[in-house]
Amino acid sequence: MKNVVVTGASRGIGRAIAIELGKRGYRVLVNYNKSREKAEGIRKIIGEAVPMKADVSKYEEVGKMIGDFCEKYGKIYALILNAGIYIRKNVEEMSLEDWKNTIDINLSGAFYPVKAALPCMEEGGRIVFISSQLAFKGSKSSVAYGASKAGVLGLMRSLAIQLAPKIRVNSISPGTIDTDIIKNYTPEQREKRAREIPLGRIGRPEDVAGAVAFLLSKEADYITGANIDVNGGLYIH
Ligand code: NAP
Repeated sequence: MKNVVVTGASRGIGRAIAIELGKRGYRVLVNYNKSREKAEGIRKIIGEAVPMKADVSKYEEVGKMIGDFCEKYGKIYALILNAGIYIRKNVEEMSLEDWKNTIDINLSGAFYPVKAALPCMEEGGRIVFISSQLAFKGSKSSVAYGASKAGVLGLMRSLAIQLAPKIRVNSISPGTIDTDIIKNYTPEQREKRAREIPLGRIGRPEDVAGAVAFLLSKEADYITGANIDVNGGLYIH
């Protein structure tokens, strides 16, 4: 059985990725920080789920989680770096603390699991970063988020070169996906957004999970250093 690690898998997109990969026969480390019950609940849906707590912005916690998992279950096939936060504040509103938190979780929190897991990764392994369309197009309502997600793309590209041919490294940039991140949208805002999207609807977490499953499959053997947009055509570049 192949082992995969999904960070931020207690809710939203990470949860859908964990469930999809579990259904496809992977053993999944379901990482969480605050939502323990939700992470443990995934065990009722997929048998081989291993919920483990670690704040991805703290290297010691990440190192311990990866070390314990590797010792118990053996080599890791894939890392999905999904944990993230979105603080909706522009440059005027954003405090230095909010800025640092965003970079620590979204960018350092994507790098730390890679650093910790490398010695335990399988030959032919996969790394998938979850970035965002805001890494490409910017945003009027957030300043740190787009910067952190553009950083993730830069990290993905360098790792793809440095870790070839042993490990394939790619990213997925979702558009608007229906999770807690957009829970403050009013019904009118949701409808307006759906109308703006060429495919006519807001994305589902499962739309992203399907793309992750593809990048882990044999069919994606010759793909590294690539980004896949999962955005219904909202931003085409
Ligand atoms: P979400 O529903 O808010 O879930 C966020 C997940 O990240 C939760 O499982 C949370 O775990 C975890 N997390 C947050 N801080 C963490 C930390 N310090 N350590 C470990 N885990 C942490 O968000 P989502 O929409 O699923 O987003 C998932 C990823 O997709 C993020 O990287 C986000 O930027 C990206 N994305 C989302 C959208 C969208 O429209 N939804 C669009 C583009 C990109 P706990 O609850 O256990 O703390």
